[in-house]
Amino acid sequence: MTRIIKYVKPYIPMVLLAIVLLFAQANFDLALPDYLSDIVDTGIQQQGVENAVAIGIRENEMDKLGIFMTPEEETLILGQYSLINDTSANYGEYIEDFPALEDEGIYILGEIGNTEMEELDPIMAELMSVVFSLKRLYADPTIAEQMGLELPFNQTDYHTEEEFFAYLNNYPVGVKANMRDGLVESFSALGEIMLNQVAIAAVIAEYTAIGVDLDNLQLNYIVKSGGLMLLMTFLSVTCVVIVGYLASKTAAGMARDIREDVFKRVEEFSSTEFDSFSTASLITRSTNDVTQVQMTTYIIVRMVFYAPLMGIGGVIRALDKASSMWWVVGIAVLVLIGLILIVFVIAFPKFKSFQKLLDRLNLVSRENLSGMLVIRAFNMEKFEEERFEKANTELTSVSLYINRVMVILMPMMMLIMNVLTIAVIWIGAGEVSDGSMQVGDMMAFMQYAMQIVMSFLMLTVMFIILPRGSVSAERIKEVLNTKPIILDSDNPKQFTAPFEGNIEFREVSFRYPNSDEDALHNISFTAKPGETTAFIGATGSGKSTMINLIPRFYDVTDGSILVDGVDIRNVTQHDLRDKIGYVPQKSTLFSGTIESNLLFAKEDANEEEIREAITTAQAAQFVYSKSEGTTLAIAQGGTNVSGGQKQRLSIARALVKRPPIYIFDDSFSALDFKTDAALRRALKKKTGDSTLLIVTQRVSSIMNAEQIIVLDKGEIIGKGTHEQLLEKCETYKEIAISQLALEGVQ
Ligand code: ADP
Ligand code: MG
Repeated sequence: MTRIIKYVKPYIPMVLLAIVLLFAQANFDLALPDYLSDIVDTGIQQQGVENAVAIGIRENEMDKLGIFMTPEEETLILGQYSLINDTSANYGEYIEDFPALEDEGIYILGEIGNTEMEELDPIMAELMSVVFSLKRLYADPTIAEQMGLELPFNQTDYHTEEEFFAYLNNYPVGVKANMRDGLVESFSALGEIMLNQVAIAAVIAEYTAIGVDLDNLQLNYIVKSGGLMLLMTFLSVTCVVIVGYLASKTAAGMARDIREDVFKRVEEFSSTEFDSFSTASLITRSTNDVTQVQMTTYIIVRMVFYAPLMGIGGVIRALDKASSMWWVVGIAVLVLIGLILIVFVIAFPKFKSFQKLLDRLNLVSRENLSGMLVIRAFNMEKFEEERFEKANTELTSVSLYINRVMVILMPMMMLIMNVLTIAVIWIGAGEVSDGSMQVGDMMAFMQYAMQIVMSFLMLTVMFIILPRGSVSAERIKEVLNTKPIILDSDNPKQFTAPFEGNIEFREVSFRYPNSDEDALHNISFTAKPGETTAFIGATGSGKSTMINLIPRFYDVTDGSILVDGVDIRNVTQHDLRDKIGYVPQKSTLFSGTIESNLLFAKEDANEEEIREAITTAQAAQFVYSKSEGTTLAIAQGGTNVSGGQKQRLSIARALVKRPPIYIFDDSFSALDFKTDAALRRALKKKTGDSTLLIVTQRVSSIMNAEQIIVLDKGEIIGKGTHEQLLEKCETYKEIAISQLALEGVQ
């Protein structure tokens, strides 16, 4: 993972911005249930009255509250309220809102800060509810009996409420304080929210008495809270959109960077590394696996930070609303975690095999498509179909297995959510009826519980995506971490100018990395500029192997190869290959035109050079006989030209480059004898001082070579000219006689 994580670096600012926005989003989302509970509790049940600090209190009511105030409370309260009556200067300002001013003076609440409000609220709650309940007790003596209260007075002794309160006022301070405490305590015993509810009822009664428009108050409150909810939702949606954009940009950008690096690394691979990864696997790794990582990154940015913020924030706020129900959420969360763990354990190993099977499917498809003709020729469609079917079925079954596990997960989650909802309503309803919780708080708690479960749902999605992503990241890492065996030396040498093209093999031995016997053994020879050095030998004798060592497709296991006296491991691969015109045993053309294929060797080759190369390669006849000429389109893999034509174009490509060293690996095999001879004559003329290395099976192709090397089982068994070898090399003689006799017959 670390290898992949470094690709996040350029996108860190974006990710950080996304995190900040997610934090904001979580806060907006978490605020919503709060507003909902406000609308239900305060807006609907309390008719928009928010707390016990009334905005207006009649003068004689304030006097009643005064009976139970301590001197400190009195200063505190009177500091916030000012008495207005018909003699006040600003009487006119208030008469509309408080019509009762006409009849009596009213204490009106001034501008009040939050801290003062919080200080005042509990005091006013006690005072308002104490006076309110005393009024009720005066009006209905049976209530005291019901509540089991023992009163220090007899209600029937007073004729009016005013008289009653005047009498209470005369009590000693201690008795009044005891009376207040006793009443407050009896409310608390009925439920923790009871005191407040009574106080709110008192405020509502007072508002009715002084003519405050309660409907308007309530409407204002609900509209205000509803408006805030809309605003929060809008802000949250905005965050979601921006975060989505940032996440996509990060993920797509990272995927691009990774693909680029994988491609670059694969380009550096020598044949050894290609032998160890299959082509199909390399393709899956640079496409499907990168896409997996991209998707994972997207999900991580969108959810990994949001889910915990939501989960933890939800828990904190839910406990704040109704701490008595924490265990319900706790159980739900535990069950969820257990569920996720089980799924993780079951599904994780499958993700690994999924990517492997995908590799397999790609391999089979590739071989099928590229070998279609052979498959048809051998009537192997059935066999290939079965092979594909097998790969396909295996992939499908793993895919189905993973999806089945995931599919079970979703309904389980829904079940847990619904059970949780029912539990919250069940337990919450009990608490509401006990008077220890408000309906709105219960509803908010329910929503928080949903948000908590949702955040766990998101975590589950991550648990589905992350393992797949990490498997893919691992597979990409394998490619990126594979250091090519063939590297340029740290301080490369330069070839001495002028470059001659002298090639020397010094006791070279070579063994393929995955093989346990030498493919070449103790090979020594020198190929000189201006001369042709030919290699002949049975198939599998190591000719291609040997020749591939010169452009460093592989490095020698033992000994050394020198070009102009410099060990080829000491110059850069680029410098070395720049000097070589290589025509492989298996000609490869790229899709495009003949021209684009030839320009591959030399970007700025002009018309003349191209024509010359084509002529020398004996390709002029078929190229220029067509009206398109060099603009003839070459299909993917060069399938629209014949094997011999392909070989000649491949030779022309090497010729365009005009390198000092030519390597032809059995490049004339698909040519008829006449063309072969003509080509060699032209080649000899054009290549002049270059070093020519020709691998062939045909003695006739190399009879005139300055040096012929006979290979057998990776060893040199003869070296010399045609004549010399005929004399001293038995194997060569056998080959020569069999071939030349045959040619003679023709
Ligand atoms: P030639 O070109 O003379 O027909 P090669 O040089 O292609 O023969 O092969 C020489 C030997 O090396 C053969 O025995 C072949 O099996 C082995 N060989 C060729 N390529 C590889 C490879 N990539 N990995 C392992 N062994 C190889
Ligand atoms: Mg070969």
